[in-house]
Amino acid sequence: MKIPFNVPPRSKNEEKYIGQAIGFKKLSGEGIFNKKCAEWFKNHLQCEMAVITPSCTSALEMAMVLADIGPGDEVILPSFTFTSTANVIALYGATPVFVDVDPQTMNIDVAAMEKALTPKTKVVMPVHYAGVGCEMDKIMALSEKHNFIVVADAAQAIFASYKGKPLGAWGHMAAYSFHETKNIVCGEGGALIINDPRFVARAEIVRDKGTNRQQFLNGQVDKYTWQDKGSSYLQSELAAAFLLSQLEEGEQITAHRLAHWNQYHQGFADLEKAGKLTRMTVPAESQANAHIYYILLNSAEERAALWSDLKEHGIQSTTHYVPLHSAPAGVRFGRVAGSMKVTDDQANRLLRMPMYADLTPDDVNTVLNTVRQFFARKS
Ligand SMILES: *Cc1c(COP(=O)(O)O)cnc(C)c1O
Repeated sequence: MKIPFNVPPRSKNEEKYIGQAIGFKKLSGEGIFNKKCAEWFKNHLQCEMAVITPSCTSALEMAMVLADIGPGDEVILPSFTFTSTANVIALYGATPVFVDVDPQTMNIDVAAMEKALTPKTKVVMPVHYAGVGCEMDKIMALSEKHNFIVVADAAQAIFASYKGKPLGAWGHMAAYSFHETKNIVCGEGGALIINDPRFVARAEIVRDKGTNRQQFLNGQVDKYTWQDKGSSYLQSELAAAFLLSQLEEGEQITAHRLAHWNQYHQGFADLEKAGKLTRMTVPAESQANAHIYYILLNSAEERAALWSDLKEHGIQSTTHYVPLHSAPAGVRFGRVAGSMKVTDDQANRLLRMPMYADLTPDDVNTVLNTVRQFFARKS
């Protein structure tokens, strides 16, 4: 491939910090780089607690343990999301309830979500698709009225905000991902952000195999023991050291992506005007992070044709989620609430363009010109 879809970003202190972590001879989850990353999030978000985890999936799983979901409980989420969002619900025997997305943002349709509420609804999981914020003010107002817990899947949302507040700071809890395909990476990694103080004390226990080991380390008790449900939600120091370096350069990495995003957006304006495609949009109240640049083609057939044409020209574009309500496990474990019209339609027409910090303006021009030539040949 001349232009791959993703290349993980680099930052300058990765080797240095990993070397230090090795030197400190403290490689497990309570080492200094895990603490520094957690501090970084506390400063960045003003959150109650941040747990650096092995993945976003494990952060979401930890959130489900803290929300104490089980058989008979329902959790509402968009069908248009990654499997992890729904899988953690099924894992604890609760029922994923799928709702449609808003056509403009591909984020959870708040009116559909409100209609899907039942007395069994325990949690709602908005997903900030493409790093564009869900309507969190409305969702939080509904959570107070109907008494459900909001766990935001902020996997794609680092350095993005909604109404001036970082996306990780919205919701009772939120989960970020640092998988190598995300904006800020450490190979595999995530963070559970806790914004509601009522979850903090249990989080100390749940993250550490259900023990009060943290109290032991703090000198509050003279031995630790099994207290509650939990698992190992701790991240290795080696990955945390890499992550700290990335977080420290996160603003610059995001700025590069935003420049590419803007170049795509301007470059596709004419094709949109000519009715060939629809560009993704970022509502005025959102400050996005250019995690994704996608276009919607006019039909699934045209999407397939452009996808393979780009591939022939050495450009790796990518579709996105197969809606979960139509996936085998979604049918087996979940249920649909309301219409899935927008999800079923737009998921079939969406194509993501190459996007990573080290793209060059020439690369973006090559992509834009290849798409233009595709449409020129067709008309
Ligand atoms: C990437 C992603 C995840 C999973 O993240 P991991 O860190 O790989 O577990 C979950 N949800 C969404 C929306 C994602 O994009």
